[in-house]
Amino acid sequence: MAEVDVSARVDELRELLHRYNYEYYVLDTPTVSDAEYDELMNELRQIEQDHPDLVTPESPTQRVGAEPSTAFGTIRHEIPMLSLSNVYNYDELTEWVARVYRLAGSEQLEFVTEPKIDGSAVSIIYRDGRLERGATRGDGVTGEDVTSNIKTIRNVPLQISPAVKGTTIPPVLEVRGEIYMRRSEFDQLNQHRSDAGETLFANPRNAAAGSLRQLDSKLTAERPLRLYAYGVGLAEGDVPQYHSEQIALLRDLGFAVTDNAKVCTTTDEIWEQCESWLQARIDLNYEIDGVVIKLNDINLQNELGAVSREPRWATAYKFPAIQKTTKIENIEINVGRTGSLNPVAILEAVEIGGVTVRRATLHNEDEIDRLGVMIGDTVVVERAGDVIPKVVSVITEKRDGSEREFSMPDSCPVCGAQAVRLEGEVARACVNASCPARLREQIRHFVSRGSMDIEGFGSKLAVLFVDLGLIQDFSDIYQLDWEKVSELEGFGPKRIENLQQSIEASKEQPLSKLINALGIRHIGERNARSLAHHFRIMQRFLDATREDFEAIPGIGTVVAEAVFDFVQEPKNRDLIDRLEKMGLRMDEGTVESAAADGKLSGKTVVLTGRMESLTRSEAQELLERAGAQVTSSVSRKTDYVAAGADPGSKADRARELDVSLLTEDDLLQMLRDDGIIDSDS
Ligand code: NAD
Repeated sequence: MAEVDVSARVDELRELLHRYNYEYYVLDTPTVSDAEYDELMNELRQIEQDHPDLVTPESPTQRVGAEPSTAFGTIRHEIPMLSLSNVYNYDELTEWVARVYRLAGSEQLEFVTEPKIDGSAVSIIYRDGRLERGATRGDGVTGEDVTSNIKTIRNVPLQISPAVKGTTIPPVLEVRGEIYMRRSEFDQLNQHRSDAGETLFANPRNAAAGSLRQLDSKLTAERPLRLYAYGVGLAEGDVPQYHSEQIALLRDLGFAVTDNAKVCTTTDEIWEQCESWLQARIDLNYEIDGVVIKLNDINLQNELGAVSREPRWATAYKFPAIQKTTKIENIEINVGRTGSLNPVAILEAVEIGGVTVRRATLHNEDEIDRLGVMIGDTVVVERAGDVIPKVVSVITEKRDGSEREFSMPDSCPVCGAQAVRLEGEVARACVNASCPARLREQIRHFVSRGSMDIEGFGSKLAVLFVDLGLIQDFSDIYQLDWEKVSELEGFGPKRIENLQQSIEASKEQPLSKLINALGIRHIGERNARSLAHHFRIMQRFLDATREDFEAIPGIGTVVAEAVFDFVQEPKNRDLIDRLEKMGLRMDEGTVESAAADGKLSGKTVVLTGRMESLTRSEAQELLERAGAQVTSSVSRKTDYVAAGADPGSKADRARELDVSLLTEDDLLQMLRDDGIIDSDS
């Protein structure tokens, strides 16, 4: 880039970032996603690094947050409240650790890892145990005086009364932490706001920051805010000189801290923690956007100090972005295999986590109303793990009047039949049982990976064969008119032979896959597995009563009803009969490794929280090998809730229902006792 261009770009970036900071920190209504903000900030940082002469003290790269709002009184922080540098991957973490070693000139260092909860930073000063004042971070030097608001937050002690008797209260203690909102409470809050016709908060962070910065503390008091304490600022008296011990002191004094601060010595240990939090993230009841890594020794922290807005002794591993902003170009209707009309947002292509996203689900009519979404809107889209991308919020500030309202059609866009919304259902559905869209989706689902897994038979073939009338129900897949197929373009002998082979191979799929493939309402892979594990052969499944279904752990009344209706329908029984005649396997096979008399055999287990030694899917696999069934919600039918760290509401529910809680060690011991894992693991 030419010098003039560089300088123009710097101006442009600064202007944008200043505006975004103001919207985010002062108005609490961001208009771009964090990922986009971070991209712009990183670009500016890079240019400033390459052109140090362009750095100015006002540059957003040199400043923390935004100036405090004049609506509040201000408080000067005796020790500045800084931001954090970021690392995005293992290599950057390795570099950061190496730099800290170099700066500290030490052979052996200890680091502490802890979750980076996404909320709003505060400083709360206690004098002789009494809450004296509380402030936001503001621009790092001066914060807003939000003392009366902070006093309304239920887990912030007004007077420290140690949770552990005998703990000495330091005469001056500045507690630093994050004010945040649990996801479940955020959803409830937004639901109330939606019912009241008020604008919705974009995410729990903005809801927390906005609630904390209310001019009327009565409003703050109504919001479900919590404090997560993560450090000590100013302190007088006998305060430990290691961060991990300071966290323990805060806990003993009655503050909510993480139970999972981990002392690590190597990069690999730190990275393991980062990965483990990344995996646990989706199940937590609060939002985390990364893991903070801090040098444990406070004296060393002070020695290392800070550069501009970031301490040298700490950094944040930032998780890959799962949210981006983009535009809705159109809203289309997809007809599902049960005939449901599913609205899908067609997006201006956007890359999230290395994948180009062009479509995102809008779920149903209620969700469209709740979001208040219009065609042409700028929206925040989320793609987390394997979950289908979804629209999470609308940025109404970006509207320019060209947006168009959208309303759900009252007829099926594929066959033209009426589309109605039955009572108690969230989705409008096409009433035509033989709507071609339904059949296409059913076949697509039948041949897909979690179902009969017919290789080479993807969505396109499903649509083609249905549209040509070659397939009218599942059994036609096993009696295709190959002569007709061979006349189609692109179907040479080799392709036909491969297809025939994979269709033949699919006949060997176990009962669980077949039950899933049948596309019964409310039955996905997990429920299909539960049913197949319980009945083991098709005939017993077909003969079961409603009560038999209800008695299966994880199967509630609505699901039981749907399965019962399905097996009672003569057309369905006839179809299954034909499939059997065509040679499809109709059983689940024997369970190899489960000892029938094992401690976990036949038990229903719910996994929650973060395990140290196992990932969620490893734990599930081991439990299933032990003959246990893993379900997602806790009910009276649950035998055990295995709770790792930060278990959240499922553990609370277990206590309420008197369901046995297992620690990770208990679970490992039972797996050992059942011979599923080695006794030395
Ligand atoms: P940051 O949020 O990335 O990191 C610093 C903050 O982390 C601290 O101030 C503290 O509040 C918090 N934190 C959480 N857990 C912690 C723990 N255990 N220990 C220490 N600190 C902990 O940095 P920042 O300067 O507050 O904000 C910058 C970020 O905010 C950006 O990277 C971006 O993601 C977001 N942002 C977004 C917009 C937007 O328009 N979307 C605008 C400005 C900032």
